[in-house]
Amino acid sequence: MNAAFVRPVFRFAPSPNGRLHLGHAYSALLNEAMAATVDGRFMLRIEDIDPTRSKREYEAAIIDDLAWLGLVFEAPRRQSEHIDEYVRTLASLEARGLIYPCFCSRGEIERASGGLRDPDGAPLHRGACRAMSDAEIEARQSAGERAALRLDMTRALSRIGGALTWREYGEGAREALVEADPAAWGDVILRGKDRPANYHLAVVVDDAVQAVSDVVRGRDLYHATSIHRLLQGLLGVEPPRYRHHRLVRDASGARMSKSAHSQPLATLRERGFTADQVRAALGFGESRATPPFVVTIS
Ligand code: GLU
Repeated sequence: MNAAFVRPVFRFAPSPNGRLHLGHAYSALLNEAMAATVDGRFMLRIEDIDPTRSKREYEAAIIDDLAWLGLVFEAPRRQSEHIDEYVRTLASLEARGLIYPCFCSRGEIERASGGLRDPDGAPLHRGACRAMSDAEIEARQSAGERAALRLDMTRALSRIGGALTWREYGEGAREALVEADPAAWGDVILRGKDRPANYHLAVVVDDAVQAVSDVVRGRDLYHATSIHRLLQGLLGVEPPRYRHHRLVRDASGARMSKSAHSQPLATLRERGFTADQVRAALGFGESRATPPFVVTIS
C-alpha cells in the first residue's frame, strides 16, 4: 500500500514592524513557487512576538501587499495569539535545568564579553549569571528587577550529545548536510526582559506546530538556524529542510532591508508599477512584462 501523501508545508513569516519591500516580495514569491512545484501548502505567519515593534496597521498592510502581488495563503497564524505555547515551552526547558535568568544590562554584557561577538555581531554573554544563587534570583525578582531568560549552552549541548546538522537545498546545489554551530551564539536569549519569548523560541515552536516541512528564508538567517536546530533537538521535534535564499540588493549592492533606497512595495504601487512588473523584476511569473527596474539578487 502507498503511504498517504503528506503535502509539504511552506511558510512566509514577516514581522509586522514596517512595510514590505522587494526583499520580502522575493521571499514570499519563492516560497509560493516552491510550494506550487510540489503541491505544497503555503502559510502566512505574522511574527508579532515583539510587542514594542509590532503594529496591527503593518499587519493589515502586509496582507494587502501580498494580495496585490497575487499571493494566496491559508489563514495566518499570529504569534501574539499563541503566547501560552511559548510560555509552556520555556517552562519545560526551565524544568530541565536548561535556562536561567539574566539581569545583566547591555553595558554589563558588553564589558564582560571581552570583545567576543555572536554571528550577528552582538557581544557574547559570558554566562556570569549562570552561577547566581536561587536566593539572589529571588531577592532581585522580588525587588521588581526584570530578567531575561538564557539558554545554558554548555548544558544544552551536553544533552544533545553528538553533532547537529541540517538539510540545506536549493540555489542550484544539491541537498547538503550542514553542521550546526550553536556554541557560536553562547548562552542565547530565549525570552527578553520585555517580551514573552523571542524570535528563536517562537519560530521553532511555530514551525513544529504548523508542521512546516520546508523553511525558505533569507541568507541573513543562515546562522540562526544553528540555534533552531539545537532547540528542535532539545524539544524532540522533527526538523524541516532549509533553503536560505539569496538577498535582493539595490544598485549599490546594499540589502533591501538595510538600504536607504529600499522601496516599499506600496511606493512602487503608487508609482504605477504593476504586480506583474514587480514579479518580472524579481524573476518570477510567465509575464512578458519588462522589468521596470533592475535589482540584483546575490
Ligand atoms: N520574521 C522574520 C523576518 O521578518 C523571518 C523569520 C523566518 O523566516 O524564520 O525577518
